[in-house]
Amino acid sequence: MSAKIIDGKSIAQEVRAEWKLRADALKTRGITPGLAVIIVGEDPASKVYVANKVKACAELGLHSEHIALPADTSEADLLAKIAQLNADPKIHGLLVQLPVPKHIDSDKILNAISPDKDVDGFHPLNVGALATGNMRFAPCTPYGSLVLLQKSGVSIEGKHAVVIGRSNIVGKPMALLLLQHNATVTICTSKTTDLAKHTRDADILVVATGKPKMITGDMIKPGAAVIDVGINRMENGKLCGDVDFDSAQEVAGWITPVPGGVGPMTITMLVANTIQSAERAAAK
Ligand code: NDP
Repeated sequence: MSAKIIDGKSIAQEVRAEWKLRADALKTRGITPGLAVIIVGEDPASKVYVANKVKACAELGLHSEHIALPADTSEADLLAKIAQLNADPKIHGLLVQLPVPKHIDSDKILNAISPDKDVDGFHPLNVGALATGNMRFAPCTPYGSLVLLQKSGVSIEGKHAVVIGRSNIVGKPMALLLLQHNATVTICTSKTTDLAKHTRDADILVVATGKPKMITGDMIKPGAAVIDVGINRMENGKLCGDVDFDSAQEVAGWITPVPGGVGPMTITMLVANTIQSAERAAAK
């Protein structure tokens, strides 16, 4: 068997086109969805992520603000900036690019962002809303992974989904989203014994560990849908996922490549969350 490749780039384009229609509809009512991204310091990877977020907004005709603050910005000054943007009616989505410098308490920062503008979905109120089945903003990477499954025609209801990884930004919200879509969900961690026993029982396998190629074809149930969230840089400079793509694609029914799978969906769902936030603000 050779798996169907889930083409994240083309699905991201399709999803962006759908959300652009919604953004255009808001614009006809005089509302331009707006995203503000704050970056503190000079981390090169963070700078690339932020530039890509701002670019995606521009492509869909959204308003965006890129606020670059020096690495020695005080926590109080950052909180003041967040308060200003929380109150700005042009801004519907607000995020602070992580990681922030060590002298800043990232939990304090995430809690300061208005839950109504928290398009990353990291505020405890939005985490709680997702956990109680009243989702407001789903974190973008798991949300994008879910959309990849849906757009690929993978049925979720009643299926056994296994999520490897329990981080707050990927594993846990992924498991909650799958649960909300009526999958039977298992979460595995570094402490799980006999990982392969669980993965071989998965109709849907989501891998988010940051461990290059740790899931091999012999650990996958024939016909399963495999979502590889991992992004790892190999010694040769190329990117690879947490799944060994070559052996996995011989067994799986569907599989995401790295790069070109989950990656393009993360920013797409950020833009989607911003437009949805603007729709909610317009409805008030
Ligand atoms: P974290 O390091 O925060 O979490 C990794 C999780 O994997 C932990 O829960 C850990 O378990 C678990 N884990 C590690 N090793 C094993 C193992 N051998 N068996 C089972 N579980 C294991 O990572 P993130 O969730 O932030 O990211 C995961 C991956 O996804 C990374 O490669 C990251 O680069 C990528 N990523 C990709 C994004 C995208 O846009 N495509 C966005 C965000 C992340 P424990 O809790 O027990 O330590």
